[in-house]
Amino acid sequence: MSSIKTGLHVPPIVETTAAGDPALGPVWHGYWSDETDTQAFARQLATCPALAHSTLTLRGDLGAGKTTLVRHLLRALGVRGHIKSPTYAVVEPHSAIDCPLMPAGEPLQIWHFDFYRFNDAREWEDAGLRELFASPGLKLVEWPERAADFMPPVDAEIDIEPDPMRTDPDHDGARRVRVRAHSPTGRLLLAVLAT
Ligand code: ADP
Ligand code: MG
Repeated sequence: MSSIKTGLHVPPIVETTAAGDPALGPVWHGYWSDETDTQAFARQLATCPALAHSTLTLRGDLGAGKTTLVRHLLRALGVRGHIKSPTYAVVEPHSAIDCPLMPAGEPLQIWHFDFYRFNDAREWEDAGLRELFASPGLKLVEWPERAADFMPPVDAEIDIEPDPMRTDPDHDGARRVRVRAHSPTGRLLLAVLAT
């Protein structure tokens, strides 16, 4: 285990052997003191070229900050204007024009899935979700556990939880964050976070 210096307030830690099970891949541990750190994390992730063709899941209770992270990431990737959330639609498409990760003039396609209300296998087919996951671009998935039977392999998993040690109202922005890599692409994302 090694401590890595970053621009965030608290230096995160990368475990090269995942706690208890190396087969699960390396884990990056971070800490967000407030939403400014969440934004810094998003901006750092957005510098990784591998992100442009990856599938990331976001886990955490309601209010943990999954959608907030997605919004910061979309902004960091160049999505402009009002950002709608997929509250009722399961998936919301976005197009990042002038995305720094893409060749000039080529927008990055981003799909933001939220399976919180997902409970119908037919919805997966009817909404063409299989095709979306198979197409190029970035897929960000909230509540993947609610579509576990259908989810394709993911590159990295981001877990967010409010810091239980910081319950006073002045610090309700504190979050513990864990990113686990599940593929070579996921490892590239971790490498960027660790710089
Ligand atoms: P989720 O999608 O996990 O249900 P949301 O992102 O919708 O959660 O809501 C998280 C709430 O917590 C937002 O109101 C956000 O402003 C707030 N918040 C406070 N601190 C943070 C932080 N460090 N990171 C993300 N969200 C934060
Ligand atoms: Mg959400």
